[in-house]
Amino acid sequence: MRNRSPATIALPPFPRLPVSIAVSECLAGGNVRYDGGHRSDAWPAAALAGLVQCRPICPEVGIGMGVPRPPIQLVGDTAAPRARGVADAAVDVTAALQAYVASQTSLLDAVDGYVFKARSPSCGVHDVPVRGGDDGEQEATGRGIFAAAVMRDRPNLPVEEGERLFDAAVREHFLMRVLIHAHWRKGVAGDVTAARLIAFHSGCKYLVMAHSVNAYRRLGRLLADLSGDVPAIAARYFSCLMETLAQPATRGGHANALTHLAGHLKRRLPSVQRREIAESIERYRIGDAPLSVPMGLLVRRLRESDAGDAVGQYYLWAHMVAEGRE
Ligand code: SF4
Repeated sequence: MRNRSPATIALPPFPRLPVSIAVSECLAGGNVRYDGGHRSDAWPAAALAGLVQCRPICPEVGIGMGVPRPPIQLVGDTAAPRARGVADAAVDVTAALQAYVASQTSLLDAVDGYVFKARSPSCGVHDVPVRGGDDGEQEATGRGIFAAAVMRDRPNLPVEEGERLFDAAVREHFLMRVLIHAHWRKGVAGDVTAARLIAFHSGCKYLVMAHSVNAYRRLGRLLADLSGDVPAIAARYFSCLMETLAQPATRGGHANALTHLAGHLKRRLPSVQRREIAESIERYRIGDAPLSVPMGLLVRRLRESDAGDAVGQYYLWAHMVAEGRE
């Protein structure tokens, strides 16, 4: 379904691939680490080829620390650690790294996701060592100073650590959110109208259902009255949507959404084919088959049956693209 418009003209067109994402520059092959090297091996760039276009950023170089440079580490209060020099604790670049986000506004406005280098005191998202005490031992873990500032500034932007993307399920979940973010940014956000908002929500129906049926109802209630400030409602809607999608869908959630989607084929397929779909969904639900099995079968049958409105669903599109099968 890559670069293809959905069958129903009411749905905003899908974004063209590749979509832009920000990436820690050392992951993108830039020799910007403190030791003058890079870590292009620390994320699965090849698995993302053709899907994303990288916009590299190195905040430590950006604030003028140079290459090579003395390394820094997180120290002090675990709730609000500081980025200080390893050899010279008088060097404190916390405020500079936080302020650097403001200088990257135009880049951050033009991307739909961010892949950060794991365990960096500037870029790490999870489990960055925070050292404290007199002996400088690790006391806890925290988030890199720049990554934390980006996430505060852009709460709806999908973020992930490069190393975690070697896991296919994590990669697919991240890519799905990136695609939906791109779809919103390019197809809706620039010119929000009540009709576009409703069309977008209708395209998201099964995607959101897979993640949370309650959230689907909550999002629907948000759009129940669009007689007021539509851009303000749209902003609330998108925040709630991205917050919902940030939690991975469970097997039960996917099975529920797929079963509802299969309902589009009720009167269009012979019972033997409907049973085949139901069985593949059940095999997935109990862990005997990957998600791609019922999803691929469903897409094939929906296309054959000309159930184009369902094929246009972002749920199928985003997962097929994220799996690299379309
Ligand atoms: S982890 Fe971040 S700050 Fe460190 S070299 Fe890579 S891009 Fe630069």
